[in-house]
Amino acid sequence: MKTLKSIKQLYPYQFEGKNIGLSIARGWLPEFAELCKTIDELLGDNKRGFHWVQLKEKFGSARYYWSTKGKKDSLRFDLIAPSEVVSMEVRQPVSANQQQALFERISKVVGAAEAHTNKHCIVCGAPGKIDQKDGYVLVLCDLHAKQRLGGGDLGIWPPDEDE
Ligand SMILES: [Zn+2]
Repeated sequence: MKTLKSIKQLYPYQFEGKNIGLSIARGWLPEFAELCKTIDELLGDNKRGFHWVQLKEKFGSARYYWSTKGKKDSLRFDLIAPSEVVSMEVRQPVSANQQQALFERISKVVGAAEAHTNKHCIVCGAPGKIDQKDGYVLVLCDLHAKQRLGGGDLGIWPPDEDE
């Protein structure tokens, strides 16, 4: 089973530098591992100071914020509707510059990985849908939605392996 620790060991540079909290829900770890691998391949030999600034859950989906030397993550707004959460990005103007093109590609794969979490259970990664309870939105499969309804502990966040 994938853990955040094993992902850090594969791509240590992605976890260096300042961050304001890195948490990946259990069900989303395999997809996140794929994302780190894809980004590693896109970057090639020059890692450009790429690192995760914040990894968290918001409105039932993952939010993955990253930074590199010379480029900040784009601005983003979240809209919450009864059945889904729409995340809109305000993109910076695209220049012909190769580096800009690379950052656009990274933005795209990160966005796709975030969108994936909006459709997959935060606990187990099975196909799921938005589940609202007490005003708090989670994406859950049928099984875990039932478990949530029953008040069970879902164990969404794996224990911190570094401690
Ligand atoms: Zn589930």
